[in-house]
Amino acid sequence: MKAIAQTRLVAMIRSDAQRFEALKREIVHLDYFCKGTVLKRMMKCGNKKCACHRDPAKRHGPYFECTYKVQNKTVNLKLYPEMTPLYRDAIRQYRKLRLLLGRMERLSRSALAHLAQQKLTGAD
Ligand SMILES: [Zn+2]
Repeated sequence: MKAIAQTRLVAMIRSDAQRFEALKREIVHLDYFCKGTVLKRMMKCGNKKCACHRDPAKRHGPYFECTYKVQNKTVNLKLYPEMTPLYRDAIRQYRKLRLLLGRMERLSRSALAHLAQQKLTGAD
């Protein structure tokens, strides 16, 4: 009974390690990443007589910006339309990184519990 439990534990520890390595490989393949969101904005101009001031549908644009926070301050980075795919991709990479880190953290918690149990039961 005890031997079976320990064999299972050893198998789980091996599987934890394999899954952790697989997640590490995914992280290695990430490209440049950037926190934030790309916003599309329609703007009013400086000319008070321009139609954009009366009619929201006649505002100028679209203008794009990437906004993110650095030490609790919001940064707005103006983007030319040609630049937006670059930033959208980087934002996707950042989300993927966060997702992978979350998975690695959860996996680490159960892997550590398995290793701790192995130490307590003296299996190897
Ligand atoms: Zn205008």
